[in-house]
Amino acid sequence: MKSHYAYDKHKRNRESRAFYKSTAWEKCRQLALTRDNYLCQDCFNKNIITSAEMVHHIEALADHPEKALDLDNLVSLCHPCHNKRHPDRAKKNVKRISNKIRVIKSKPNPEVT
Ligand SMILES: [Zn+2]
Ligand SMILES: [Zn+2]
Repeated sequence: MKSHYAYDKHKRNRESRAFYKSTAWEKCRQLALTRDNYLCQDCFNKNIITSAEMVHHIEALADHPEKALDLDNLVSLCHPCHNKRHPDRAKKNVKRISNKIRVIKSKPNPEVT
């Protein structure tokens, strides 16, 4: 095996992005939402009624690609509950926002004199 771990991880991320655009996933996502009555299941378990905003893979897609379209591996969640299931991802989002602020700076237009 020539491939480096970091390379594999990068490749898997690209593959998962393609997966989330697939019609198979879109159908499965809809089935999960219908099964869960479009309610966040983590809130529902605490007797709170919140509409689901997304479908989460219980076993991570990258680690268990064979469960990607397994309804038993899918759960409908609201964004706050989903962030609780991905504590690492929430931190990354903060980083991304600060990067954006730096990009907004406008350059002077060299054509205008
Ligand atoms: Zn929730
Ligand atoms: Zn998730």
